[in-house]
Amino acid sequence: MERIYLDHAATSPMHPKVIERMSETMGTLFGNPSSIHSFGREARRQLDEARQTIASSIGAKANEIIFTSGGTEADNMAILGAVEASSDKGRHIITSSIEHHAVLHACMRLEKLGFDVTYLPVDEEGRVSVTDVEKALRDDTILVTIMYANNEVGTIQPIEEIGRLLAGHQALFHTDAVQAFGLLKLDVNTAGVDMLSVSAHKLNGPKGIGFLFAKEGIKLAPRSFGGEQERKRRAGTENLVSIEGFREAVMVNRENLEEKAEAYVRFKKMFMDILEEESVTFKLNGSLADSVPHIVNLSFPGTNVEAMLVNLDLAGIAASSGSACTAGSIEPSHVLVAMFGKDSERIVNSIRFSFGLGTTEEMVEKAARETALIVKRLRG
Ligand code: PLP
Repeated sequence: MERIYLDHAATSPMHPKVIERMSETMGTLFGNPSSIHSFGREARRQLDEARQTIASSIGAKANEIIFTSGGTEADNMAILGAVEASSDKGRHIITSSIEHHAVLHACMRLEKLGFDVTYLPVDEEGRVSVTDVEKALRDDTILVTIMYANNEVGTIQPIEEIGRLLAGHQALFHTDAVQAFGLLKLDVNTAGVDMLSVSAHKLNGPKGIGFLFAKEGIKLAPRSFGGEQERKRRAGTENLVSIEGFREAVMVNRENLEEKAEAYVRFKKMFMDILEEESVTFKLNGSLADSVPHIVNLSFPGTNVEAMLVNLDLAGIAASSGSACTAGSIEPSHVLVAMFGKDSERIVNSIRFSFGLGTTEEMVEKAARETALIVKRLRG
């Protein structure tokens, strides 16, 4: 049976060029970038070049990039690190109720430590209002952390407007751009952010590597202690093989971002058109106009998410509930709860499909037709 992977927002396959680059690096570049001999210097040169390439992909400087083990660590580092370093200026943090758990749980940790966190609501399309941010802002706000694009429904947040709002305020502005990087053109200067998190495995790079952009001059308390790597912000020998893979993924992406984005928007429309053609009723969760190209989250009234996912899997189609799956059971999505309320039936009947490397029109068509069959079967 042909299997169709439509869960690229969860993770994506590595690009062949990434695998090639990583294999080469593994075979040849084993020196420690901190060593002063030629092996170390070679490794350092590669590391510096990778940092430069990655930094320029978001309009940043090389010294503003801190490599991390992925999006989670970058989010934790931004939130916990920035708050610890500026706790003398205030104890208030603003975030949204639809953030990834890497942000939400870090904020909850801060609440336990005595900080005051405001969780902003979102509208029915999953968007934070700039006016709400403005109203929540206090003199003692030290951090605002709002994601660039949501991982479950894909909605893009008004980051530039929030950036402008915060320009004259002491609060640092962090954005989790894990789902946006690689699909939207990002520039930290136009976005007006102080910190931005990215993860390589969402754009056909390896898992376990990411970065935090932290604007020059931002104070961050370190989360790990030891050597002086990453300008004393993250101790530990650099993961050069993965960083090289990440660099390659960024380079490939730079060449095909627009083409990819156009194709995924087409796939999204095609998927929904086929469902309509098959007379399957559904509702779109999120916004069609203001969302990342690769994510489409649909609610199928009269079905159930677990039954849908099992049936899709049996048909060879990998999709997702978009929310946390702990030990095989699906927890209600906090994102859909924030968008529609805890009693909405959308919470129990919504599926996220996400496109990426290797997705073809034929796959999208087959997946849409299979989805239609399953929905009809489940509705009896
Ligand atoms: N933030 C968002 C929006 C994500 O989608 C993810 C991954 O699903 C993460 C953070 C965590 O990234 P990582 O898996 O690299 O730790």
